[in-house]
Amino acid sequence: MPLTPLHLGPGAAFKGVAGRSFSFMVFGGAQVLMDIEPLMAMIRGWPVLHGVSHTVAGALVVGLVAGAVGRPVSTWVLERAKIPHFPITWRASFAGAFVGTCSHVMLDALMHADMRPWWPIGMTNPLLGAVSIDALHGLCMGAGVLGAALITWRYHRAGRV
Ligand SMILES: [Zn+2]
Repeated sequence: MPLTPLHLGPGAAFKGVAGRSFSFMVFGGAQVLMDIEPLMAMIRGWPVLHGVSHTVAGALVVGLVAGAVGRPVSTWVLERAKIPHFPITWRASFAGAFVGTCSHVMLDALMHADMRPWWPIGMTNPLLGAVSIDALHGLCMGAGVLGAALITWRYHRAGRV
């Protein structure tokens, strides 16, 4: 299902561990960009929900866009919302973007039968069913709780995120 918050759990964990070297805002934006294609497919009734955007090749292209657009947009949003934050560097922006798009393909490949993550090199989905859906949800939620705890701890230590 497009735009599931499931993907944000691992992102929060990355942010908690990497701190200012990783933009969680750009990571979140990358999730939205990744799921434009399946959303369009649902609206328009396309036969394949997870097409080229949900491949490793697609993730690299979407990651480039997310990293380039994510820094100015996220900086603007954080400034407007007056959220105390470290400046988002290009490196942090692209880290959030590529971790975001690549983890998105990996997580989705575990549960969507129409995915071909290695297109155009391979047409199979070796990750499908490797982990049960319940276990996947549990892991993502666990990562989210851990990430939130680490982010909170960082915020209290430095006064910003
Ligand atoms: Zn997706």
